[in-house]
Amino acid sequence: MSYDENHRDNWHHEPRPRRLRRGPVIVVTAAALTVGGLGGWLAWQADGSGGRAPVGSATTAAKPGSSPTPTPSPTLAPPTPSPAPAKSPTKATGPLAGRVVVVDPGHNPGNFSHTREINRQVDIGTKRKECDTTGTATDAGYREAEFTLDVSRRLRTLLEEQGAQVEFTHDADRPFGPCIDERARFGNEAKADAVVSVHADGSAVGNRGFHVILPDRVKAGAADTSKIVGPSRELGERIAGKFLRATGSSPSNYVGGGTGLDVRGDLGGLNLSTVPKVFIECGNMRDPEDVALLTDPSWRQKAAQGLADGISSYLTR
Ligand code: ZN
Repeated sequence: MSYDENHRDNWHHEPRPRRLRRGPVIVVTAAALTVGGLGGWLAWQADGSGGRAPVGSATTAAKPGSSPTPTPSPTLAPPTPSPAPAKSPTKATGPLAGRVVVVDPGHNPGNFSHTREINRQVDIGTKRKECDTTGTATDAGYREAEFTLDVSRRLRTLLEEQGAQVEFTHDADRPFGPCIDERARFGNEAKADAVVSVHADGSAVGNRGFHVILPDRVKAGAADTSKIVGPSRELGERIAGKFLRATGSSPSNYVGGGTGLDVRGDLGGLNLSTVPKVFIECGNMRDPEDVALLTDPSWRQKAAQGLADGISSYLTR
């Protein structure tokens, strides 16, 4: 099985030859991850938007009403409760009113049964690549595509509470995909102020922690990231800082040298974006300790909170 638009590691634990080109903006070693040892991460926490959860062992209850177990089945999916009349952009209030955020839940639960379709090659500028991949899963069968939808839905709620207009590239409302080029176009056509693609990694046991993937400078074919490299880094750094704070999770111990940041030029979803965009790998679905977090609805709520805080921080900077 190929799991890879989004994961260089997966089961095929390839070496990662490339390091961040810029010196790490922040250097946080896993061993130094105490509240007092966060160093540069604190820079993002002083921006006035206020991370809420303290780093550490605090347990934050899942938000009531958040579904801990997303279901891809339309027949089982409850209708979205809508106590208020249909949303109108003109009615939105809050610090993110008027801002458009596109959330891209990585993969699709239906991809597993549409391998032919998702293996179709698409052009990502630098090369051709599979339309989409299945994503990874835990040993117990909790799929990355279910995880990404759950976190994305929680994130949508949090951003909408701040007045943002949130659009999904898909909401398990299609049999498979979309393809990675279509996912990128979605954000472009929405003229999104920020786009985040939500994932969990499939790396080796012992590899733990989160990392945010920033677009590399790429100019080839339809890909030209020159205008988004800077703002995407700003977005990604803020998300990394807030994610750390909200979840208490450590930055990846296998990617990014402890910074929680990686830069890649091989992802169609980034290469083809013309608006600020990052991916996040929230943890490693192949590592038992990370799995304990990723499968916990209250942790997923914290993950969504960290993402929302990072996006909000970026949009109100
Ligand atoms: Zn993924």
